[in-house]
Amino acid sequence: MAGLEPIMLEAASDILDGASKGNSALLHTGFDAPEDSIEVRCIQSGYREYLAIKDKLNLPLIESGALVVAWDEEQLAKLPAIVAKAHRNGVGDVVQIDRDELRKREPSLSERGLGAVHVPGEHIIDPWSAPLAYAHQGLAHGGKVLRRCRVTGGAFDGVRWTLQTTLGNVVAGVVINAAGNHGDLVEAINQPPAFAITPRKGQFVVFDKPASKLLHAIILPVPTERTKGVVACRTAFGNLLVGPTAEDQTDRDRAEVDHAMLEQLIAKGVEMIPELAHHSVNAIYAGLRPATQFKDYQIAVNRERRWITAAGIRSTGLTAALGIAQMIGRGFAETFGDVREAEPIWTPVPNLAEERPRQYMTEAGGDIVCHCELVTRGEIAAALEGPLPAGDLGGLKRRTRCMMGRCQGFYCSAQVLAMAEGRLQP
Ligand SMILES: Cc1cc2nc3c(=O)[nH]c(=O)nc-3n(C[C@H](O)[C@H](O)[C@H](O)COP(=O)(O)OP(=O)(O)OC[C@H]3O[C@@H](n4cnc5c(N)ncnc54)[C@H](O)[C@@H]3O)c2cc1C
Repeated sequence: MAGLEPIMLEAASDILDGASKGNSALLHTGFDAPEDSIEVRCIQSGYREYLAIKDKLNLPLIESGALVVAWDEEQLAKLPAIVAKAHRNGVGDVVQIDRDELRKREPSLSERGLGAVHVPGEHIIDPWSAPLAYAHQGLAHGGKVLRRCRVTGGAFDGVRWTLQTTLGNVVAGVVINAAGNHGDLVEAINQPPAFAITPRKGQFVVFDKPASKLLHAIILPVPTERTKGVVACRTAFGNLLVGPTAEDQTDRDRAEVDHAMLEQLIAKGVEMIPELAHHSVNAIYAGLRPATQFKDYQIAVNRERRWITAAGIRSTGLTAALGIAQMIGRGFAETFGDVREAEPIWTPVPNLAEERPRQYMTEAGGDIVCHCELVTRGEIAAALEGPLPAGDLGGLKRRTRCMMGRCQGFYCSAQVLAMAEGRLQP
């Protein structure tokens, strides 16, 4: 949108922190989302926009499809209802398949699979390059990002907000609260929040690259009321992922992994794909979903207080991000006016996905620094520069994948840290 001067205030040293740091990276169709919800609308408009702009932003799409697998008779009996719900949600290509078809599609899956629902439109994407590309586009259109800028309070004088932050006061005509796991705390600056965030942790295990050959589709469980359940899928980076768990906690920032749960996830993976028993795990991580007491997202525009809420974006926000942006953009224009559509400036990001040409395959990148993930000196140097350079080591890893492979930085960290010296927050 033109005519605005947006500033993103980010408490962390880098973007791609918070809930967006650790997710499953699935591009959802909304086949199983709550019907007639804000969530399903945002997922589906976000999904469509991702497909429309991904090439312009150089973002990947691994067209895997998904299979909701029934592992016992009780789950098998639930499959027709999953298909019917998908159709009601407008995802018309979803069908039930039998045991033989399942075996044909996924020969490595345990023979215990009795049948499945096939969802051809569910895909795998890069969890970090997408939000990074959107942020770059915002900057190209005149937006600003202030990092290490925590909003701690604010006052509204009837016309504008003065937000208190750790970098001083920031004056704004309209505030958008998109604070993830801190959404209710930031909301309280405006009014007593109508929702409370309870972070829901999801732990994951990442199997080494050869394991990715064991699957084609995303393997989903028959969902429960509380969670989509444990998924097994390839990643855009050529690994195989098993997770997430669903564990409520009070800590809003720290997502710790624990040995017992990871053992359970590995066992679950092996139960689904027996061959996984012969593959090694090369990374573990956890993310925190900003869950509330409600199933739906909490999105609202408050005209009088000049405040927009975008909270409770729990398990589907990577997909829904562009749809949420559309919804907020419309709400903003209708309520506060004085904005117009801008001609988009495209800000492609470097490709990190295995299925497409990487920089190490060309002359441009120079020598390889991270040999596990094949990250070049050029890629690392580029991530340390530009309009939104990596703010901390986590941000550098997420922008390039350096130190995220089999050795977890054992061999390359000295070189990476030498290149980054003086540029990253501890
Ligand atoms: C385990 C797990 C699996 C998931 N799988 C998928 C998936 O497969 N597909 C999918 O589409 N989605 C998935 N998601 C959901 C997706 O990751 C989230 O919905 C999304 O990241 C939420 O983004 P957000 O911007 O609302 O929150 P965040 O990413 O947390 O962003 C909020 C930001 O606000 C900052 N902040 C907080 N308080 C303040 C303050 N006071 N001042 C300034 N800044 C502040 C934080 O530092 C943070 O960076 C998953 C999530 C998890 C945790």
